Amino acid sequence: MGKLSIYLLSLASLFFCSCAYKLSSYEEYVVGSPACKAPRTKGEVSVTYLGTSGYLIESGKTAIAVDPFFSRHDLRTVLLNGPIPPKPDVIASSVKKAAFPDSIDGWLVTHAHFDHALDIPCLQRQFGGKTYSSETGRALFKACGVPARTVKATTAGKCFRIGDAKVSVLEATHDRLVGMVVPYPGELEGDIPAPTRPKDWKVGEPLAYLIEIGGKKIYIESGGMGNSMPSEKAKGVDLAIMGVAVADSQYRYPKAVQFLCPKYVMPTHQDNFFEPLESGFQFASTANFPKILAHHQACEVPGKLALMEFFHEWVLP
Ligand SMILES: [Zn+2]
Repeated sequence: MGKLSIYLLSLASLFFCSCAYKLSSYEEYVVGSPACKAPRTKGEVSVTYLGTSGYLIESGKTAIAVDPFFSRHDLRTVLLNGPIPPKPDVIASSVKKAAFPDSIDGWLVTHAHFDHALDIPCLQRQFGGKTYSSETGRALFKACGVPARTVKATTAGKCFRIGDAKVSVLEATHDRLVGMVVPYPGELEGDIPAPTRPKDWKVGEPLAYLIEIGGKKIYIESGGMGNSMPSEKAKGVDLAIMGVAVADSQYRYPKAVQFLCPKYVMPTHQDNFFEPLESGFQFASTANFPKILAHHQACEVPGKLALMEFFHEWVLP
């Protein structure tokens, strides 16, 4: 079977088996409350969930957004590689619900797929700040009109500051669909045409980030291949946000969390991002949260399990 057929088949499986279930089945693990614009008191660090693998991370002094993506498109459009423009009205209502501050200091991108990167140019235009992504991301953002001086290409091993936060860029991999293919593979550089369709948003170099902010350490990634472990620089963090979108990263999850030994662990990228955010959190049919929970209940993984509803914020304990 060709790679394209495997890819289409696995995307189609999302469509045909719509076994939607919601967070309400797992209330004891849900943290946070609806986001509000109250300023953080000294020493507080909050995390707001934006859907997919998007988060807003704030201390009293600094605001960083990772992979914010609000302009969801339906599965049929994505399957057919149809046009997927950003949706300004959805972005406007989403940033309100997420209680975005007036300005954002930095945008971090784990990889350049549309479900991580599509809205960054619109958001950066409104909220300012610098974007950090792979070279592929930089080429795509520049093609979308982001001024070159506000988008930095970065790579695993780099370290920089955003406001009062220290950010270390760590190596990462991208999940394979059906354990075989990374969707939209490839890298981009230089001057390219503006992206308009899913296939234009090539994966580029996948990255993970260790964010040290307000006395807390947060590790964030959007998933990875079954046998790849996170960087050991992220061991012992306060919160590890770990992608578990498909079987590849779900297989990796218990071993990766054991390796990191975080205080809290938040499995992410397990919602159905073909449905609008206003429908609330729904697990994707490719998600396998019961299995992840079973690992925790069997005490095979350290760290307290935490789940969040869209646009809720959680002050890290
Ligand atoms: Zn991806």
